[in-house]
Amino acid sequence: MNALTRTTKEKVLFDPDLERGYINCSLSQNQSATVKQLMHFVEPIPVQLRCLDVLNLFIEDKTLFTAPIIDDNNVPVGLIDRGRLTEIFFKPYARDLHHKKLIGEIMTTDPVIVDINTSIDDLANITINAGMRHMANGFIIVESSAYVGMATGHKLLEEITQRKQQELYFLAHYDQLTGVPNRLLFKDRLLQAYQQAKRSEKAFALIFVDLDRFKHVNDTLGHSFGDQLLINFAKRLTSSIRGSDTVARLGGDEFVIILQNLSEAGHAEQVASAIIDTVRRPMLICEREIQITASLGVALFPLHDDTVDGLIKKADAAMYEVKENGRNGYALYSERYDHSQIQRLSLEAELGMALNNNELSLFYQPQVHLSSNQVIGVEALLRWHHPEQGLISPAQFIPIAEESGLIIPIGEWVLHEACRQHSEWVRQGLPRLRIAVNVSDIQFRQKGFFACVKKIIGDTRIDPNYIELELTESVVMTDPIQTVATLNELKSLGIKLAIDDFGTGHSSLSYLTRLPVDRIKIDQSFIRNIQEVPANEAIVRAIIAMGGSLGLEMIAEGVETLAELECIKRHLCQEVQGYYFSRPIPADEFKDWHQNLTQDGSYRSALDMPCVPLCQ
Ligand code: C2E
Ligand code: MG
Ligand code: MG
Repeated sequence: MNALTRTTKEKVLFDPDLERGYINCSLSQNQSATVKQLMHFVEPIPVQLRCLDVLNLFIEDKTLFTAPIIDDNNVPVGLIDRGRLTEIFFKPYARDLHHKKLIGEIMTTDPVIVDINTSIDDLANITINAGMRHMANGFIIVESSAYVGMATGHKLLEEITQRKQQELYFLAHYDQLTGVPNRLLFKDRLLQAYQQAKRSEKAFALIFVDLDRFKHVNDTLGHSFGDQLLINFAKRLTSSIRGSDTVARLGGDEFVIILQNLSEAGHAEQVASAIIDTVRRPMLICEREIQITASLGVALFPLHDDTVDGLIKKADAAMYEVKENGRNGYALYSERYDHSQIQRLSLEAELGMALNNNELSLFYQPQVHLSSNQVIGVEALLRWHHPEQGLISPAQFIPIAEESGLIIPIGEWVLHEACRQHSEWVRQGLPRLRIAVNVSDIQFRQKGFFACVKKIIGDTRIDPNYIELELTESVVMTDPIQTVATLNELKSLGIKLAIDDFGTGHSSLSYLTRLPVDRIKIDQSFIRNIQEVPANEAIVRAIIAMGGSLGLEMIAEGVETLAELECIKRHLCQEVQGYYFSRPIPADEFKDWHQNLTQDGSYRSALDMPCVPLCQ
């Protein structure tokens, strides 16, 4: 579980605009084009008119090439064209022979007749099926069977070619899923923005946008869900900027925004902040309510770089900085990020090997029951002993493990190691303590998670009643139905469940009543100096009171001082965890630490005691 990935404390209301629609693109508009737009009016010829009169009409009007023939009800019955008349009247004596005949006798009787609402696509198919002769003659257009006009084959051809060109342009320059410009068009627009900014001496901003945990949504909720999410996401981005700015999709869940003609640099930050707010409004996708967040990196021309390639790199580096600092936010580029990006890439590669090289270990932080003064549990906290950099905090590498998928094998190792250690302590004669293990959202949503937990219990022979899994609020918010099913399966084994860092996410306490959760871990940000911050004290009091009435147990995290502890005690919180009692301790030191307590495992005087020797 990653406490670092949750920063917002806002409660968000459901947004009723369901956003199911696809982005309209020029193609879809073209698809609705009908023959009406090809139509022109040609005076129709009554079927009883004599051939000579018709011939005279064609002689008088040199532009007349084809004319429709209609009956008394204005219904087209045939077609006459200049070619057919010439063929008949060109021969000797033809005029004498045919002039009295009615046009109905010599007209073409199988013209293409189409309704005015026929689509251009259908007309093209009809023409092909009817034979290309009709391309030369043209088509008669009717409305409710009555003649209204004609269209020429030439016009149809022109229209189709133009549409094909548009289609090819669209395919080459726009993202087919979301309808926003693709990488090619983005590069073009970026170059334009760059040239214009140089000419006008105005700034422009490049913003890299990445959906947080998209891979995880895609893997767990399916690709069509993921596609729909991207469509809605693109729509929200587009709605957050001016029409003259550009949103483009570079691939996957990576988007970029170009904000042109910035009168002041602060405007880019305002837009970034507005995008974050817009994006995290709950969305309804495939009848499922989902809340997503995004990480944005902003680079400004010419402030941060005066080259196009440089700006791209810098916006990207700023975005990664946000990812590493808990996602769901934006950052303006800073030179410090260049270094951290290089570091991040090498850390990712090294983390891949850390597990095999035995560089990971677990530290254990005691949890104390206040009324009995007893240590009743420990939380297992992961540590990475990097061969060169020394001890690296999970704050730094858990987000990398989550982004890269390494969290799955790492999380499995953590659970196995914690359970194995528990069994070993029991063998060594330590009292049975509850052992809390952090579970990342990605790990929890993985299909084989339950089976994996079950196997670890079997392999390590731990009594599952002593395992407590710590989940985040976002786990329960993303997919409530599936979550409850998995939680119930875990509970059926006897496992306890806790919500970690409570108060930093979006869930409400009443929401948690629907979940089989045992404990709430009140986030340490509320505990810090609680005795001096009335708002925090009020929140903690409310959480404890409501949690108590719902039958949930409470533990306060991050208690560092006696003043904080006393305040927590006053509000009747049952348990605490924090540096005041002990920092997280390596496994091999924990036994000694525990034996330093009184024989019954309690603190001699927890409230007056100095901190137990610290170790990190
Ligand atoms: P968390 O689960 O909320 O763990 C509590 C964090 O608060 C730990 O940081 C702990 O050392 C720290 N802490 C405890 N008491 C105090 C205190 O009195 N004052 C202060 N300032 N800090 C205190 P740590 O070990 O650096 O872990 C940070 C986060 O990394 C954890 O937050 C958890 O979200 C994540 N994490 C740690 N181990 C694992 C793991 O095995 N798996 C996963 N998925 N995440 C883990
Ligand atoms: Mg935890
Ligand atoms: Mg926590």
